Amino acid sequence: MTRNLAVIVLAAAIGLAACAQTQQTRTTENDAIRWVESAAEFQALSLQTYNSAAERLHQAIADPDWSALPDQRAASTLPVAIIFDIDETLVSNAAFQRTFEPPFTNLKHHDWNRNYVATPLPGAADFANKARAAGVTLFFVTNRPCEERADMPGSCPQEATTIGDLVESGIAADSDHVMLALERPEWTSEKLHRRNHVAETHRVIMLFGDDLGDFIACSRARPLHPCREGATAASRADSIMQHAGYWGKKWFVLPNPMHGSWTTVE
Ligand SMILES: [Mg+2]
Repeated sequence: MTRNLAVIVLAAAIGLAACAQTQQTRTTENDAIRWVESAAEFQALSLQTYNSAAERLHQAIADPDWSALPDQRAASTLPVAIIFDIDETLVSNAAFQRTFEPPFTNLKHHDWNRNYVATPLPGAADFANKARAAGVTLFFVTNRPCEERADMPGSCPQEATTIGDLVESGIAADSDHVMLALERPEWTSEKLHRRNHVAETHRVIMLFGDDLGDFIACSRARPLHPCREGATAASRADSIMQHAGYWGKKWFVLPNPMHGSWTTVE
């Protein structure tokens, strides 16, 4: 190719790229849901996350000093565990997000979970079952709350529904390992309390979630005990960098552009 021809080809390519750029549209809230529901890229990210974790699994189990909890000490002789969030981490709620009539309520979400088969995220069940086969105990820490319902028995009918969603996703679970918000008075939606509870008996080798609060305490705008101050976009960004070495090694985050504590901060 002559130099002049190369310049012409390059100019044409730039022109085409610019044209493609102008044909794109801004994303909207509905596009966020559509992306999770239908984009192959979302599916790939989920697989990428769980495949990456699988690469680390045996190293994490074998190293007695390996913990995904920055404050965990003297855990080398404890059995190993992984803590998973559930919604948008193991199962997708995109169909619920698309169809529910605002405003969001826990009751609407619970009814949807009861009435529809859960949608598993790609790679999640394979990884969870691989970890379990390797001797890891799985805990599921969700902010689906326990709430009494007049039309259902028991103080936490949401627990059986949640266990059912996990089973539908290919992950066996029981009430000893599924920890809902408010299942105990101190188990607020600040997940630190439940992570600490697991850490009393297990060396926690990995965390999985879609929300900063699945990894780091005090990351919501409205602080809950023991947090004193609400988070801001800047404080959340700082906390990411303070834990830079954890991501992709001990902490694995799934993309969720639809909802989460990130929407509450400024
Ligand atoms: Mg979640």
